[in-house]
Amino acid sequence: MSTLEFALKNCWEVYSSGRQRKEMDVLSKEYLTFLTRCKTERETVARVRELAEKAGFAEGIAPDGAMFVLRGKTIVLARPGKKPLGQGFRLLGAHGDTPHLDLKQRPLLENGFVAQAKTHYYGGILKHQWLARPLALHGVVALKNGRVIPVCLGEDPAEPVFAIADLLPHLAQKQMEKKVSEAFEAEKLNILFGHAPAKIKKRVDSKNGDKEPVKRMVLELLHDRFGLEEEDLYSAELHAVPAGPARPVGLDGALLGGYGQDDRICVFSGLQAFLAETKPNHTQLLVIWDKEEIGSEGSTGAKSRFFEYCLQDLVDAWDPRARLSAVFYASKAVSGDVHAAMDPDFQDLHDKLNAAQLGHGPCFCKFTGHRGKVGANDAHAEYVAWFRALLENAGVPWQMAELGKVDLGGGGTVAKHLAEYGLDIIDFGPALLSMHSPWEISSKADLYATVKAYQAFFRS
Ligand code: MN
Ligand code: MN
Repeated sequence: MSTLEFALKNCWEVYSSGRQRKEMDVLSKEYLTFLTRCKTERETVARVRELAEKAGFAEGIAPDGAMFVLRGKTIVLARPGKKPLGQGFRLLGAHGDTPHLDLKQRPLLENGFVAQAKTHYYGGILKHQWLARPLALHGVVALKNGRVIPVCLGEDPAEPVFAIADLLPHLAQKQMEKKVSEAFEAEKLNILFGHAPAKIKKRVDSKNGDKEPVKRMVLELLHDRFGLEEEDLYSAELHAVPAGPARPVGLDGALLGGYGQDDRICVFSGLQAFLAETKPNHTQLLVIWDKEEIGSEGSTGAKSRFFEYCLQDLVDAWDPRARLSAVFYASKAVSGDVHAAMDPDFQDLHDKLNAAQLGHGPCFCKFTGHRGKVGANDAHAEYVAWFRALLENAGVPWQMAELGKVDLGGGGTVAKHLAEYGLDIIDFGPALLSMHSPWEISSKADLYATVKAYQAFFRS
């Protein structure tokens, strides 16, 4: 009789051949480049679009593929399958937005002989992780004349970076007695922006230049480099993100470190799988959403009608006799999102039987939500069983977990917003250490297994 007990499979043991390890190396190199290049939702969508175009996709609907982009922040790719769309699709969704610091709309001020830029954080961050580290500035400034100026400062090693200063230990005694939630104030997350004052002759010509000569200098530099005036910043989206490239971690380089792996590891894996499975049975859809980190709100988030409109257009073009509701009910979806790996130093926060283990494959989250499954999508048992069979046939290791102990935390994803349409959906993605920090860590083996799992899903 075979073993009755369930045992997790270690991806390093499952994928141990020379060929597999070589593929793993190639894949993780490409992934690190992707992470290094894509630090905002716009950059992520632009890169996904670029790679899709290389594979033959173009915006609009063609007989063999479709692409829809909204505001440069969310993208849908579709490829018809052998079966008509009326028999359902296979959708993989992930999100391209990541926690960061946004510059306020009126950010610039001068204090203590430096110019600073005020920020408003986006998504769930631990504020202290953003202090005393190199930051880069990515985003756009939209002008009244309709031009949109892209900004990327602090990534080229020859260029200066930005930073938020932190308190010295010698003066931190009062701070250390406070609760962490009170010790770090959002209004003190101000980015160092400049130090040398403007030349006297120039600044006396300006209204405030005499009182704020360093801010004046910053404005002059922004004007020289980008043609900007202070008012233009009101229509800007500038993100402060960790500066520098993503890199392998550990003596063996078997871990991958970098900013924004929640959820760009699923964006990357999903795209890899989507582009690899060119002759699917069912219509394939890859959707990269924006605004997941702030509740999937807005016109580019998963709560918007964008995806529904895209699908209606696809039905009209590819299977006009199908009913939209029937298409949804026949469809299967994955919410590709990351999970919290069991932290070796905080094991007490996890229920070990139901915790995600690094290197043991992508992780299902049957339900999300918090304390009593409130606000959850709860995938149906039948769908979990279907998936188990699929992965067993594909030989891909997988696991299932909850996000921490029952009363200790929780979270949500895009799954519940898609579930509203009646399709089968479950959260499924690799586990990370240091999730939501400026330097998240994944396992090279999990990345490889995730691409394999997503490919099997698209093939099904
Ligand atoms: Mn996520
Ligand atoms: Mn997140």
